[in-house]
Amino acid sequence: MSNNTLNTFSVNSKRITKGALKVPFKELTLSNGEKILLQTVEGCPENFPNQPKITSGWTESYQDGDARKVKKTQLDYAKKGVITPQMEYVAIRESFCTSDEGKMAFTPEDVCNTIAQGRAVIPANINHPEAESMIIGAKYSVKVNANIGASAIGSDYSKELEKLRFSLQFGADTVMDLSVGIEGIPELRNAILRASPVPLGTVPAYEALDRAEGNIKKLTWDLFRDTVIAQARQGVDYFTIHAGLLHDYLPYAAQRILGIVSRGGSIMAECMMSQGTENMAYEHFDELLEICHDYDVALSLGDGLRPGCINDACDKAQYGELKTIGELAARCYKAGVQCFIEGPGHVAMDKIEENQRLQEKYCNYAPFYTLGPLVTDIAPGYDHITSAIGGSQIAAFGTAMLCYVTPAEHLALPNAEDVKTGLITYKLAAHAADLAKGLPGAKIRDDAMARARADFRWFDQFALSLNPEHAYKVWKSQMPDNCSHEASFCSMCGPRFCPIRLNRVLKNKFKDTL
Ligand code: SF4
Repeated sequence: MSNNTLNTFSVNSKRITKGALKVPFKELTLSNGEKILLQTVEGCPENFPNQPKITSGWTESYQDGDARKVKKTQLDYAKKGVITPQMEYVAIRESFCTSDEGKMAFTPEDVCNTIAQGRAVIPANINHPEAESMIIGAKYSVKVNANIGASAIGSDYSKELEKLRFSLQFGADTVMDLSVGIEGIPELRNAILRASPVPLGTVPAYEALDRAEGNIKKLTWDLFRDTVIAQARQGVDYFTIHAGLLHDYLPYAAQRILGIVSRGGSIMAECMMSQGTENMAYEHFDELLEICHDYDVALSLGDGLRPGCINDACDKAQYGELKTIGELAARCYKAGVQCFIEGPGHVAMDKIEENQRLQEKYCNYAPFYTLGPLVTDIAPGYDHITSAIGGSQIAAFGTAMLCYVTPAEHLALPNAEDVKTGLITYKLAAHAADLAKGLPGAKIRDDAMARARADFRWFDQFALSLNPEHAYKVWKSQMPDNCSHEASFCSMCGPRFCPIRLNRVLKNKFKDTL
C-alpha cells in the first residue's frame, strides 16, 4: 500500500431508501472495517453545475399565469399535522449519521411537530426543485451558511460558480448570493440556483437598489416588491428582509462607534432618512408575507442593527430591533410563512448567552441564525477564527445556523480559497456545538478519530478529518520518506517519546484489572 497518496480509505455514496425517497450520504469505510455515515447532497460534484430536480412534484402546486405557486407551505402542512416528503427526507438526513441505522433519532412526526411549533424551518421554494430538503432548528445539527456573490469591483460569473462549488464541497448547508452592483444579477442568480442542491438565500434590497440605479431616492415600495416577486419566482428559498429596523431606533444607532454595518440595514435606513418615511418592508409586511406564502419562501428576519464592534453590542438599537423582529415572527407564523431570525455580529463572550436567551424570549424560539459573533475586533485577516469562537459558543446555547465568516472579512471580497477556509472553520464550530448540546450521533466521528489515533491508523485519521488533504500534507511533510502509514509516532514527539505508543504498555499492563 502506498503511503504517498490518500487512496487508502474508501469514500462511497450510500443512499438510504424509504418508499420513493432516496437520501444520499457519504460512507467512509475505515481500514478496520468501521463505517461512518456523513451528511451530503446528491448533486455535487458529479452533476455540477446542472443538478437533478430532486424535489419536483413533492409539493402540491398550481400555475398562476407564468408563475408556479404552492397551495400550502411546509408550515401550513405542519400545523395540520400532515407529514410531507420534505419532512420525511430531513428526518432520515438528520437521523442516519447516528450509530444505529435501524433507529431514527428524529422521526418525521418529530420534524412535523417542531415545524408546527415554529421552532424549525425547511426552506423549500417550489421553484427550486434542485434544493435537497434540509432543516434549520435548534434540536437538529447546527447548519452553516456560506455567503458568495459578486461586487462591482470583484469577481465574475465563473468565479462565483467556483465559490459555490467550493461551498458545496466543504459542506455548506445553505448559500446566500449577495451579489450587488454588477450587470446581470438575475442571470447570475439563476445560474447559481440551477447549480445549487442546497437552499439559496438573498437580500432583495441589494437588487432593488440596483434596479433604482443606485439612487436611494428612487427606491420605492413597488420596485422593492417587484424584486421580491421576481426572485421568488426564480426559486430563492429564503429572503433576508430588514423589516424590524424602525425609524425610532435610528437615534440609538447614531450613538454607536460604528452605527449601522449591515448592508441591507443601511439601505433601509438611508431610504427612511432620505424619503422621510418608515421602513417600507415593515409597512408592507403583510404583502411580503403573501408573496412568501405563494412560493413557500422562508423569511430570514434580518438584523439591520447588528453591532459592528464589541462596543456597540447589546445596546438599545440591537435589542429594540430584536423585539420588533419578534413581533414580525409572530405575524409570519400566523400567515403560515416559515421564518428564522438573524443575529449578531460582534459580541464579547460574556454577552453571548444573553443574546441567545433574549432571542428565544422575543421570538418564541424561532430558529436563530447568527453571523459569528466575532468575540473581538482586533484580528483582521483572522476573523474566521474570532467569529468561530463566538459561533460555536452561541450554537451550543441553541443557535440553529451559523453564517460563516472568511479570513477576508472587513478587508476584501472573499475568493474561493477564503470560502474554503471559512467553511472548514465553521463546520468545526458547528460540530463542536453539536457535541456540546449532545446531538445524537455527533460523537461517533470523534470516537472513531480517537480510536484511529490510538491505533496509529494515520490514513483513517485523515479520512475522518474535515480536510483530509491538508491533514495528510502536514503529517507527511516531516515524516521520513520511507515511513509507513502505520508509523507508531509522528514528528511532534518522535518515536522515542510518543505517549500514545506508551499507552499500549499501560493498557496491556492493566487489561485485566477492571
Ligand atoms: S508522536 Fe506525539 S503527537 Fe505524534 S502521535 Fe505520538 S503522542 Fe501524538
